[in-house]
Amino acid sequence: MFTALRVAEHHDVLLLTKHTLGEGSTAWAQGGIAAAVGPEDTVTAHVVDTLDAGAGMCDPVVASVVCADAPRRVSDLLGFGVRFDRADDDTLALAREGAHSRPRVVHAGGDATGRHVADALAAQVRSHARIAVREHTMVAEVTVDDSGVTGVRLADGTTIATRSVVLATGGSGHVFARTTNPMGATADGPALAYRAGAALADMEMVQFHPTALAIGPSPLALVSEAVRGAGGMLFDAEGHPVMQGVHPMGDLGPRDVVARAVFRSARETGRDVVMSLAHLDPERARARFPDITAVCATHGLDLATDPIPVTPAAHYAMGGVLTDLSGRTTIPGLWAVGECASTGLHGANRLASNGLLEAAALGERAAADIAAGGGEPAPGPRVDARPLTTGAGDADAVRTEVGRIMWTGCGLERDAEGLAIAAGELDALPRPATPEAANLLDIARLAVRAAALREESRGAHFRTDFPDADPTQARRTAWAGDQPHHLKPADMATPTNNFTEAV
Ligand SMILES: Cc1cc2nc3c(=O)[nH]c(=O)nc-3n(C[C@H](O)[C@H](O)[C@H](O)COP(=O)(O)OP(=O)(O)OC[C@H]3O[C@@H](n4cnc5c(N)ncnc54)[C@H](O)[C@@H]3O)c2cc1C
Repeated sequence: MFTALRVAEHHDVLLLTKHTLGEGSTAWAQGGIAAAVGPEDTVTAHVVDTLDAGAGMCDPVVASVVCADAPRRVSDLLGFGVRFDRADDDTLALAREGAHSRPRVVHAGGDATGRHVADALAAQVRSHARIAVREHTMVAEVTVDDSGVTGVRLADGTTIATRSVVLATGGSGHVFARTTNPMGATADGPALAYRAGAALADMEMVQFHPTALAIGPSPLALVSEAVRGAGGMLFDAEGHPVMQGVHPMGDLGPRDVVARAVFRSARETGRDVVMSLAHLDPERARARFPDITAVCATHGLDLATDPIPVTPAAHYAMGGVLTDLSGRTTIPGLWAVGECASTGLHGANRLASNGLLEAAALGERAAADIAAGGGEPAPGPRVDARPLTTGAGDADAVRTEVGRIMWTGCGLERDAEGLAIAAGELDALPRPATPEAANLLDIARLAVRAAALREESRGAHFRTDFPDADPTQARRTAWAGDQPHHLKPADMATPTNNFTEAV
């Protein structure tokens, strides 16, 4: 929606969404948007935290540019009508989240940031004369010829001709049985780009959030990192602090470290880890986190006083469609922004609240690039397109099986044997009848191959058979067709349209 609004300053835009406008992960975001806007903060500190979380795999140029863009994108969102929370002195209220060295996260409605952002942008989009919206319209294929994009084919078989397509399809959480993502997060963008012949990158890098509410089927409700930022603590079934002695930042350590600690504790004790806020002021806790309080209440739990059972769950795809700093993919006329893209900002582990930031920052840059006429595709591999194939397999059954296989064999802890079993089980599944299930299956296959190729542990990717990081593997891997290509950080670092914005 951000991209559409910016492109619409220059061109007519057709915005297609497979559900309703504003539905998606954005509306579910709780914590907020990271931006160095506080008096004690600097862009450099934000970059350093981003690079530290990314465990040696971020593209430092991308991190510098996106973090420098952040204050302006927050101001753009204010301009679009997002009412971020204010401190007593009317400056933007800032929360501290995991792996941030200082308070840096702007939020709205307490823990309802995403809803405020999505509602404000949707209202702008709906009233914009140059944006046409088609809801309940699923894109099944991006069509290409030798020169680049020719249009899209919808799930109903009809086609729309255009030379410029921006993928903004969100996440891939439902590749895994346990996820915080909405049902529509089925890796559509990466699958569409992959079949069109574009390069994907970092497909082994999936962030598991440490604290999803361990009640009921996916999507699992999120207990935001901001809850730990406000003092919430994790305890095992015997009442021991889970993070004691695990990481110097304790409960606010990097997500991957906390997620694995929670995963192992639950496996060892056979019982869920719990989050406790009982040592905090209950009224303040409920007021700061009204949405999470309400979700807990539907399960008979008081967030402020009860132990809240939590589990890791697939939360954010660092991998996706390989793009440069203008959102260009390796196919002319195809851009990708938001979670479906892989810019190199997040490396092996996304810093909390850098997701919405990246979506806005790259939306702005992609729109500027489109307005300037685009041009050469991003550097990187491209292969011939292959058509989407569906079969007779029961789509729900395939979805469930993909989730189970991936959670078991390609989840928080991986090894060669488990990955080989997962690959075999995925290959044995029937070709599903729907594009969404086909997308999940194809992206799961690629993630398993990428996880098997990376014989080290780094960030969110943990191999029990290679538990240490290997400096020689501190590089990104792109996939075009079935062929892996190693990327040097500098390969993707240069904005190809010479788009410069004063910092
Ligand atoms: C519970 C939760 C909390 C989070 N909290 C935060 C946070 O506090 N801060 C932060 O920075 N990040 C957070 N994230 C991550 C962040 O919300 C997402 O990365 C970001 O919102 C993704 O935005 P997007 O525009 O890429 O995708 P989305 O907002 O998911 O939008 C994707 C849209 O594409 C549509 N679509 C998908 N496939 C197709 C198709 N084939 N055809 C047509 N339409 C399609 C979908 O219907 C949807 O409307 C959170 C994520 C979750 C799930």
